[in-house]
Amino acid sequence: MAPGTKRYLIIRCEKCGRLTLARSGSASRTCPSCGHRQRISTNPPIASSESPEEIRKILGALKSRGIGSGPSRHKDLRRGTQ
Ligand SMILES: [Zn+2]
Repeated sequence: MAPGTKRYLIIRCEKCGRLTLARSGSASRTCPSCGHRQRISTNPPIASSESPEEIRKILGALKSRGIGSGPSRHKDLRRGTQ
């Protein structure tokens, strides 16, 4: 791999469990959900890809399995009107 090749990473917030996208080369990422700042070196990505399309697909697949939807899934269930 050429140096400088950017990879897209999926980081799982160690505090709230939300999934968030990051770029390789960043040292840390702030969770958009809870604001927790985590170091990528101590919280390794659960997935990575060179393709932004692929990383979004992986993210969608993980979310559809209920991974990374955060600790408050019951809130989403309550919000759904069925
Ligand atoms: Zn968080």
